[in-house]
Amino acid sequence: MSKKYDIAIIGAGVVGASIARRLSRYKLTVALLEKEVDVSFGTSKANSGIIHAGFHDTPGSLKAELCVRGNTEYDRLADELEFPFERRGELVVAFDEEQQQTLYKLYRNGQQNGVRYMELLGRERTLELEPNLNPDVLGSLYAPTAGIIGPYEYCFALVENAVKNGVELLLSFEVAGIHKTNNFFSVESSDGRSIESSFLVNAAGLCADRIAAMCGMNNFKITPRKGEEYLLDKRVGKLVRRVIFPAPKTNSKGILVIPTIDGPVMIGPTADDIDDKEDFSTTKEGLDRVFAFTSHTVPAIRVSDIITSFAGLRPVPSRNDFIIDKTEVSGFINAAGIQSPGLTASPAIAEKICGIILSCGLRMELNPDFNPKRKAKIRTRTLVENRDYDTLGKLIQSDKNYSKLVCRCENVSEAEIIDAIYRGHTTIDSIKYATRACSGRCQGGFCTSRILQLISEHAGIDILKITKKGPGSELILHRIDKGHQ
Ligand SMILES: Cc1cc2nc3c(=O)[nH]c(=O)nc-3n(C[C@H](O)[C@H](O)[C@H](O)COP(=O)(O)OP(=O)(O)OC[C@H]3O[C@@H](n4cnc5c(N)ncnc54)[C@H](O)[C@@H]3O)c2cc1C
Repeated sequence: MSKKYDIAIIGAGVVGASIARRLSRYKLTVALLEKEVDVSFGTSKANSGIIHAGFHDTPGSLKAELCVRGNTEYDRLADELEFPFERRGELVVAFDEEQQQTLYKLYRNGQQNGVRYMELLGRERTLELEPNLNPDVLGSLYAPTAGIIGPYEYCFALVENAVKNGVELLLSFEVAGIHKTNNFFSVESSDGRSIESSFLVNAAGLCADRIAAMCGMNNFKITPRKGEEYLLDKRVGKLVRRVIFPAPKTNSKGILVIPTIDGPVMIGPTADDIDDKEDFSTTKEGLDRVFAFTSHTVPAIRVSDIITSFAGLRPVPSRNDFIIDKTEVSGFINAAGIQSPGLTASPAIAEKICGIILSCGLRMELNPDFNPKRKAKIRTRTLVENRDYDTLGKLIQSDKNYSKLVCRCENVSEAEIIDAIYRGHTTIDSIKYATRACSGRCQGGFCTSRILQLISEHAGIDILKITKKGPGSELILHRIDKGHQ
């Protein structure tokens, strides 16, 4: 017999995860269904990690409203869930008169959207803030409320806390069919499992149109818009402190220079509409475009500084705004078409979805046992970077695995990897997102084999079955000798 829930959420990206955590404040039974082997494996893992201020989007749009509202939530969320977050600010830079005009327009947008503390800066002040910018810059729009985060750490933290507060996470549950009988949705997975729920929230990102179609609704289409991004070696240092934007022209915010929360600078993304929802390739042409723009903005950037690249797909809906509403099928609610600034807006989207569910008549009683706190593991690399050897020494005394460095590029200890495994992350990519092991210059060349051993030992998985990111990406094909892989 299928288990019954009050609410099932399809998709464990930042949107589904935020909704799940928000709902875990109430005395409700909630299931979070995800087709991948871990959470945050969709668009939520492949983005720029910026908590936008909110001046880019058209006043009156849901994107504008929920971006500005979402932005204000991050100090509290970071405090409760212990994911890294810094309000670094955004600068939109202008190099000619036309671009200056665009800055004025963005400033007015921001004022209408309710963005606080924005300033239009002249050349000198702009260069004072960011001395590595091209000295030909004429001026900038500065929004200090923007921030940067580690997007997957945020998503992992949301889900961990939601699960601690009673949400059930069903991984590798690919929703393949939905039937509505009486007042229940019967939701079937491609491997034959099923659950039932009174409400169904569609937070399936790129596949949200397919999920809506399973309930007979074909009123929107999601087109993938590819964004290629390139990560620079930390050797080049902290070239910029704030996120640097161009004056935008067409279908995106443009190609940016982005300080990441972990130190290195990232450049990108491109914005190209494509057909294939599985095409995550990066291209020479994309790199040329990204490099041409960013090397003009920050001339110190060199192609040889790039250590890796990735592409993310924005889920762009046929109507160019978030689709967040109840539908003609009673109990079926869309949180669809969440393109940028979906990461920023996710806490506000969750709040809005809860409001919609409440307006549909579900009794939502607060859960007195709700615990908003989630404890993060202390990172060896932070202690090393801050030269905090006292704390490191005490940690090593309490757990000798802190003294064993597994990832030498990023100073990740065995203690952190074991902790990530016990938090449920058992693929190489999940460990990378949770700890940063494999993210440095060698890209896992030295540490992958040790991580495989640790996963096998602590999660009890045969080493031949451990994958990079789920079935089909096994890393070791066969044993060539007894005891050796
Ligand atoms: C290059 C790029 C840069 C970006 N930069 C920023 C930024 O700096 N700031 C910002 O605010 N936003 C940014 N965004 C946008 C942001 O990343 C997205 O808005 C956000 O991640 C969308 O989250 P989501 O949960 O809706 O989608 P996803 O993260 O894609 O989650 C949907 C989930 O649904 C699952 N799913 C799909 N089908 C099924 C099924 N049948 N059964 C079960 N599960 C299913 C998927 O596996 C996936 O995990 C960027 C996007 C891109 C591509």
